[in-house]
Amino acid sequence: MSRLRCAFAALLAATILTSSPGAAQERIKVIASFSILADLVKNVGGERVDVAALVGPGSDAHVFAPTPADARKVAEARLVVVNGLGFEGWLDRLVKAAGGKATVVVATKGLKARKAGGGHDQQDHGHDVDPHAWQNVANVKTYVANIRAALAAADPSGAAAYQANAAAYSAKLDALGTEVRSAVAKIPAARRKIITNHDAFGYFEAAYGIKFIAPQGVATDSEPSARDVARIISQIKRQKIPAVFLENVSDPRLMQRIAKETGAKIGGTLYSDALTEANGPAPTYIEMIRHNLTTLAGALTS
Ligand code: ZN
Repeated sequence: MSRLRCAFAALLAATILTSSPGAAQERIKVIASFSILADLVKNVGGERVDVAALVGPGSDAHVFAPTPADARKVAEARLVVVNGLGFEGWLDRLVKAAGGKATVVVATKGLKARKAGGGHDQQDHGHDVDPHAWQNVANVKTYVANIRAALAAADPSGAAAYQANAAAYSAKLDALGTEVRSAVAKIPAARRKIITNHDAFGYFEAAYGIKFIAPQGVATDSEPSARDVARIISQIKRQKIPAVFLENVSDPRLMQRIAKETGAKIGGTLYSDALTEANGPAPTYIEMIRHNLTTLAGALTS
């Protein structure tokens, strides 16, 4: 046998070995409802898990319309991880379309939900609770614990790995929470208020003390009324609110109009409900929180 053929035979043998059952680790297929959750699953699951998001980077999960291809992905997944708290209004229909057998993991299980429109005096068309619990970094430790438990139940031989990954990631979340608090502390108290498109930052406000005011409710499926917009404009003028922010999942035109009519500056873009692609400023949850923090602090302290 020539040396080349010998090498080829060895390669073939190696290929057969690694593809035989038991020799290769088969990855656990997980579907996450949106990009932020997919990032959390990736951090807890590591190499053992193959995760994809139904609603990808830059897309709005509030108004998502699942396709038959999405139903197939759900049917093939071992676990379907969702936020819950009414965020995925399309979930029940999708699970039914997928044959009804999906194992659904609610990542916010055990968290105390914030009431929709809390303190903002606005109508919230059919939404009782605010689903954006991930905007408080401490809450994400509950997401991580729920994801860890679900992965360990689906794949018991990976339990120790999931435990180690979850502990390491939770330590990063603790550090991130501290970082947010100290950055907010540097913003003069009177300037800690901003305007955003939709009411996605209520948990951030409650945890860290920046006041967010939004013309649109906790979902994006209904337009703000002319009255809501007029009220916001007079509030900005009365309270001298320094900045308005755009959101990656919302139409920028309303905020641009409000900025023009009030003289408030546009402070930048905040990432509320979706990450960016890998080459954007918020490709992971941790980078998203950091980006929002830098953007807020930059606009409110200058
Ligand atoms: Zn939202």
